[in-house]
Amino acid sequence: MFRRLLCLGTVAVCTACAADLPPVAQLLVELIRLDTSNPPGNEGKAAEYLKTKFAPLGFEIDIIQTPQAGKAHFIARLRGDGSKKPVLLAAHSDVVGVEREKWSVDPFAGVVKDGYVLGRGAIDFKGGLAVFAQAVLNIAKNKVPLKRDIIFLSEADEEGGLYNTRWLADRAWDKIDCEFSLNEGGWIVKDKAGKVLYASISTADKSGISLKLTAKGTSTHSSMPRPDNAIYTLAKALAALSEYDTKPKLTPETRQFFSALGEVSPEPMATHFRNLLSDDPAKVAVADKYISEDTLLHAIMRNTIAPVLMNAGFRGNVIPGSAEATINFRTIPGTTPEELIEELQGVIKDPRVEITVASMRSMAPGATMTPEQTKQMEEMMRASRNSKPSPQDNELYKALAKSLSEVYPTTKVTPYLFQAGTDSGAWRMRGIPVYGIYPYPIDHEDLKRMHGNDERVPISSLESGVDLIYKTLLAVAAK
Ligand SMILES: [Zn+2]
Repeated sequence: MFRRLLCLGTVAVCTACAADLPPVAQLLVELIRLDTSNPPGNEGKAAEYLKTKFAPLGFEIDIIQTPQAGKAHFIARLRGDGSKKPVLLAAHSDVVGVEREKWSVDPFAGVVKDGYVLGRGAIDFKGGLAVFAQAVLNIAKNKVPLKRDIIFLSEADEEGGLYNTRWLADRAWDKIDCEFSLNEGGWIVKDKAGKVLYASISTADKSGISLKLTAKGTSTHSSMPRPDNAIYTLAKALAALSEYDTKPKLTPETRQFFSALGEVSPEPMATHFRNLLSDDPAKVAVADKYISEDTLLHAIMRNTIAPVLMNAGFRGNVIPGSAEATINFRTIPGTTPEELIEELQGVIKDPRVEITVASMRSMAPGATMTPEQTKQMEEMMRASRNSKPSPQDNELYKALAKSLSEVYPTTKVTPYLFQAGTDSGAWRMRGIPVYGIYPYPIDHEDLKRMHGNDERVPISSLESGVDLIYKTLLAVAAK
């Protein structure tokens, strides 16, 4: 059945059918074929499918239905002897939507081509879901005696929406409580020749703060313009912001990360990475300039600034009395809204522009959020800003780092500050360590396709990823 379905593609695809796909790649193909683009998500389809894989092997299954039809979380628990608290592996089953006309293959067909699985979610994060699931299934198949439960969680609404893991944690905490957990996060980066250069394990996520700029002017008839047009005032403020960037703000984890890059990169980048860590502001500024050509590296060393929404005027013959823009900052842990407001005031230098914290409601125009839900989201954002990075002396971190070195002997392992928010917050907020990794070596070309077009993951990387996670689970959970 599976082979026949796979053959729906082109001739090039069919040649791949001749070879036997490893179980993890088959799992990924099947998952991609369940369209879980969010919105609406329909993660319940993935939950029902996963149940058919886990239930026969003795896992205890919970499908947690959310108030939204078709949207569910999936939890599978493999029992240990209970002498230690569980280890949890979390993977979201929803994916972002596609610009279908820009794909060379059907993004939801699970096409196998040239040693890759292609499709939406191949990297983010159905590939990871398949790797985590296969490693856990293998533990069950091999009847490994366990000192702790292994919990596998397939999450809903990670890419947006109200019923994400934080929602789940508030309602079914006993089912996902654990000593430590794995989630998406850092990268196993290989070069063009396929050599694994470094592996980053995320121990913290960046957070987010949005500020609203409100420029004030005189509201009047457009036939008699005055010098205080609010739209001009706002435009000047945004122009000043466009010329500005924040200074690098390195956490202990990003210092380790850039130090690792300094060791594995060719010159002149190696020197720039080392100089970024120096105490000399002139050297740091030059290093920042070159390193920042990579938008990911630019982002993880600082609070980033992105204007995302504008709002001004309501009809063609009225000069509006105010004009608004929303600026989304992705922040280094510990950054407060107050310090960002002060920083922005220093850049804009115009008292006619008021700077305030944007409400969560204003961030998603058109979304229906009750005041209660808005308040909850804002509290969660605050808690996530204050949560501590997960420690590096933890048993799970050490096991993952050791397994990385065994499976990819050329790799340098480093902690990492993830450039965006993930669902890890649900555990970190409760003091439970979470370590993030996309468990398959990929190169920059593959990385660019994440959330983009022709997203793909090498089959060989999926296979070594299963080995990596299996070894890590043996180290922390086997008796
Ligand atoms: Zn993701």
